[in-house]
Amino acid sequence: MSVTQAQYLEMFRKMESCVEQLQYMFPNHAFDTPTLNTNIKSKSTVGQFRRKHHEVRLNPEAIAFNYDAILNDVIPHEMAHYGVTVVYRYNRTRVKAHGYEWKAIASYLGAVPRPITDAFYGLKLTAGRIAKPRKRYVYDMGAVGEITIGGIQHKRIQGGNRFYKYHGEDVTAAHWTGATA
Ligand SMILES: [Zn+2]
Repeated sequence: MSVTQAQYLEMFRKMESCVEQLQYMFPNHAFDTPTLNTNIKSKSTVGQFRRKHHEVRLNPEAIAFNYDAILNDVIPHEMAHYGVTVVYRYNRTRVKAHGYEWKAIASYLGAVPRPITDAFYGLKLTAGRIAKPRKRYVYDMGAVGEITIGGIQHKRIQGGNRFYKYHGEDVTAAHWTGATA
């Protein structure tokens, strides 16, 4: 899986623009652009910021799979980690990796302010920042059509100890088609 030169340059420019935004957000701190490497081999990691190496690392497989999410979500996500290390002198005991300090910076830089992204569904990445695809259960609601229901609600409905309505219609155990989505 190779990353094109055009992609590499665009990603690096994105990091530079994040640095400019960080500088604007925190004028009393000094920022510079970390190194960009696209050499993560681990199946479970899309991206990471490594403070000691002053480096953003990305997974080339994830870049090939969803470049747009890498560019517009993962890079600002990792750059927000960098921002936290500069502004709060990152200390695991005092600032959480995805705590409110990180969330504020991540939002400002345009990342989804949560540790897990679902943009990599279908890629065989199952841990780290990657959400496991959640099973959904298909219910046939007749005239209303098919609806999909999450695992927790599905269990309750099938257990008969909780009732849900959908467009005025009771969703019961019998409505489950037996299928998952
Ligand atoms: Zn993170």
